[in-house]
Amino acid sequence: MPWTPTAGAVPSGSRVLVIGDLHLCPSRPDITQAFRRFVETQLAGCDALYIVGDLFEFWIGDDDHNAFTEEVATLLRSASDQTQVFFLHGNRDFAVGKRFAKRCGLTLLPEVARIDLFGTPAVILHGDSLCTDDVEYQKFRRLRCRPWFLPLTLALPLKVRRYLSDRGRAQSKQKATQADYKPVDVTAQAVEHLMAEQGVDVMIHGHTHRPAIHELDNQRRRLVVGDWYSQDSVLELTPQGATLHSQPL
Ligand code: MN
Repeated sequence: MPWTPTAGAVPSGSRVLVIGDLHLCPSRPDITQAFRRFVETQLAGCDALYIVGDLFEFWIGDDDHNAFTEEVATLLRSASDQTQVFFLHGNRDFAVGKRFAKRCGLTLLPEVARIDLFGTPAVILHGDSLCTDDVEYQKFRRLRCRPWFLPLTLALPLKVRRYLSDRGRAQSKQKATQADYKPVDVTAQAVEHLMAEQGVDVMIHGHTHRPAIHELDNQRRRLVVGDWYSQDSVLELTPQGATLHSQPL
């Protein structure tokens, strides 16, 4: 899908990749393996990698060191040795902090980041803030966005955070099977509002597990990267346009 053509000094080899919603966790080594394959084979000649959140299924703090977190840290370091890696927080890994980022060579971006995409201004975000019909979740989101929420949570002993996280996930699993869980999609109003507010024609996000390239009108595009539960999902951006790639894990 082509962009609005931009004049200019963009080298024709420019290539930016976007991934998100890998939901990496110790119980799914196959996803970590797919991420390893991605890092080892896809980043050569890449100008930047954007991770748009929910890289992890859960993150209880940068002080949680175990075989799994060390393995992923090594992979991220290997990614940032090859290209610039930008990280946006998701609703699952909003606690990823500066210490982990520094260790892995990640540049942390604000929740809504405006980027220059080969001369086209774009906005990039996780996407949960656009799902305004998910009333129950938005209540929790407002709470966790309060300035005191994260510091207070991280001040709890690691053991307590681990207990709370395990309990929370057990509860949400129960709920998921009951309701045949499907992520709530974005609302058109929230998308329109943010694009107008940011003055952009391109929006990039994940979270909804609905990979797609939406043409909103002649000019505007909404690019959605998918999850990695049973296939990977990579959004490739070049000066020529946007392409979604996917292959089974
Ligand atoms: Mn999410």
